[in-house]
Amino acid sequence: MHILVSGPQGSGKSTQAKLIAKKLNLNFLDSGAMLRESSETEMGMKAKEYMDRGEYVPEEIYFQIIKEYVKNRCDANKGFVFTGFPRTVDQIPFMEEELNIKLDKVFNLIVSPDEYMKRIQKRVDLEHRSDEAPEAVLKRLSEHDLKTGPVIEYFKAKGIVEDVDGERSIEEIFLDIMNRLKEVK
Ligand code: AMP
Repeated sequence: MHILVSGPQGSGKSTQAKLIAKKLNLNFLDSGAMLRESSETEMGMKAKEYMDRGEYVPEEIYFQIIKEYVKNRCDANKGFVFTGFPRTVDQIPFMEEELNIKLDKVFNLIVSPDEYMKRIQKRVDLEHRSDEAPEAVLKRLSEHDLKTGPVIEYFKAKGIVEDVDGERSIEEIFLDIMNRLKEVK
């Protein structure tokens, strides 16, 4: 089974994706974390320049990093829970044809702008991520609406998107997602 957990920054997508992967014994691939982890490599260093500005990493750099990661760090016998990939419509054919992965379900976490600004502020105070300076946060939000919105539309047209209220507790959201997964083979 292949799952995508989507949502804007601060929506809790990574937390939910990790819980699902653990429960169902699937590979967990957090795209942003994967890029941050690769910051020592030549490609990773290039990626960081874009990330620090709140921009998406260009596909020619991104595809090399994710291909390596899937090959070396994931179990080919297991399905995947992704978060942060695919993030543009151009990444969909790469996922489907190059990686040979077709999503079964997309969970789209819905969080109001007020709530995610609050959550991001909390994370900035705790983690000091270099892409969470105020200008980068705003840039990332507009990148998300502009480029990731169409990804959700694509999967909506396939009938596999589940909108999930992301303004509840971690446990409540997780239970809701697990219930909805019961219907998926
Ligand atoms: P995240 O941790 O998911 O918020 O991602 C942090 C940053 O990593 C984003 O703002 C982008 O710069 C970059 N990034 C993550 N996933 C992708 C992707 N699939 N394509 C391009 N850039 C990405």
